[in-house]
Formats: sequence, structure tokens, C-alpha cells
Amino acid sequence: MAMVTDPVCGMELDDSQAAAQTIYGDERYFFCSEDCRRTFEENPEEFVTTG
Ligand SMILES: [Zn+2]
Repeated sequence: MAMVTDPVCGMELDDSQAAAQTIYGDERYFFCSEDCRRTFEENPEEFVTTG
């Protein structure tokens, strides 16, 4: 169990209680809701900062 940040809305949540999750690249991302997951998957580059 760990605190993670929803990359879409910025909410902090417990990874074991996240409503949704997805894997992008080599990373797993957690979301407060299916809505945030859908938004992320439509345009992941917008929410992921690399380097
Ligand atoms: Zn969210």
C-alpha cells in the first residue's frame, strides 16, 4: 500500500483503493475514477512527463 498521485486530476490516493489503473510504457498509473483513466488513455503524453 502506497500513496500515489492521479496524473489527471492530481488527487492523492491509496494505490489499493484506486478506482482504476493502467499501464503506460513501463509505469503503472492509478486513478480516482474511470473518467480520469479514460482521459489519460485518450492522451497519455499530456499527463506523463518524461525526462
Ligand atoms: Zn482523478
